[in-house]
Amino acid sequence: MSEHSSSFMAKSTIKAADLEHRRKINFNIGKYNAAVPLGKTQFTDVHLARERAKNLKWRAIENLDKNLEQFEALLTKRGGKVIWAEDAKQAVEEVLKICKAKNCKTIVKSKSMVTEEIHLNDHLEEQGIESVETDLGEYIQQLDGEPPYHIVTPAMHKSREDIAKLFSEKLHVAPNLSAEQLTLVARDVLREKYVQAEIGITGANFILADIGGVAISENEGNARLSNAFPKTHIVITGIEKVIPSMNDLALFWPLLATYGTGQQITSYNTIVSGPRQAGEPDGPDEMYVILLDNGRTNILANERTRESLYCIRCGACLNACPVYKNIGGHAYESTYSGPIGAVITPQLKGLEEWKHLSYASSLCGNCTEVCAVKINLHEILLENRHDAVEEGDYSWGEKVAWKVWKQATLHRNMYNMGNQKLKNWMVNKVFKGWTTHRADLNFAGKTFNEMWKEKNH
Ligand code: SF4
Repeated sequence: MSEHSSSFMAKSTIKAADLEHRRKINFNIGKYNAAVPLGKTQFTDVHLARERAKNLKWRAIENLDKNLEQFEALLTKRGGKVIWAEDAKQAVEEVLKICKAKNCKTIVKSKSMVTEEIHLNDHLEEQGIESVETDLGEYIQQLDGEPPYHIVTPAMHKSREDIAKLFSEKLHVAPNLSAEQLTLVARDVLREKYVQAEIGITGANFILADIGGVAISENEGNARLSNAFPKTHIVITGIEKVIPSMNDLALFWPLLATYGTGQQITSYNTIVSGPRQAGEPDGPDEMYVILLDNGRTNILANERTRESLYCIRCGACLNACPVYKNIGGHAYESTYSGPIGAVITPQLKGLEEWKHLSYASSLCGNCTEVCAVKINLHEILLENRHDAVEEGDYSWGEKVAWKVWKQATLHRNMYNMGNQKLKNWMVNKVFKGWTTHRADLNFAGKTFNEMWKEKNH
């Protein structure tokens, strides 16, 4: 068992028994579940919309190289600079190089899972650069020294009371502030930072191949402030975020909003296609886009799992997953949690250390059912398991158990061997895995085979 696997088991065991955690998650996911059906009413045929989005992502990913080159050529024409980063190390080095050139002391950053993936804030901190999260949920998590708990709602596991307590401890404001008062406190702190920061960093929800731009969706206006106030704007994005045309946003924006939060459209949707142009009153002097691979081309190379690159990070599969709802986002110990995390983390970071996440599923298929772009998530989980076995990544005990199972299913007599007492003893006392967290199994007095014979004679 890998170190990550043992830690995952330990953390999920504790969280699954934490009823207060479950109460908070159910409360927040309950609000989401109430909002999503309202958002869906804007589509005449929501299934068709999802199918179309899947087809568009298929086309974008099948032509990934051409789309990205077109994006680069067009953005460069408008004065933007594109940097290709093969891995997290290269991406961080490039950011630090820009910071050094700009003598940067403060960065304002809007929500971006890719920057979490490369642990950017830790590297900036090591260099004495203050990187301030400006999305409210991310800001709360940063104050608490925790990574995001959910890819869309970073502080989903915290109640209003938890946040009031945190603000009181860290920002020395009165305890028990209301949600509105807490928001105003955060806004006061953050507004000051936009003015101080030399660099603003954002992610991108979509890379627009046909115009050489990026599209950013957000509900607080903080991403706009982060890219427009500082003199330098850096976008860090995974290469899979590409879509063929700006016109496709007419489908992707409402789809992302509905499946992400239940809104019809996210409050602020911005398209950035370069730094400030001559005659424009505002915007940054320089714009860099870092296109991150970090294992994505490995996913691209595998035809059976490639469609996991279609993900638009709406978070719907997390909210629908019975495993996520019980163990929470932090037990995964990976940037991406829930079903999509269980699918892509082993692909991005290696099966040997991370394949256990692909087993953290009941394979109920609810994730596939709710996915905004109809990714066959539960089937890809099986593909990951298959690949792990192909690579010889399984224990001796597992190998023996499957061999015995295969023999038993091929030879009916083996199934009928042993009486009820012996089977109960074997499962409940010898193979204790099942009964560690469950009541003892009690086998039927007669086998199915015996009952069938009796019935038909
Ligand atoms: S896999 Fe589908 S449901 Fe999950 S985050 Fe991605 S797009 Fe949303």
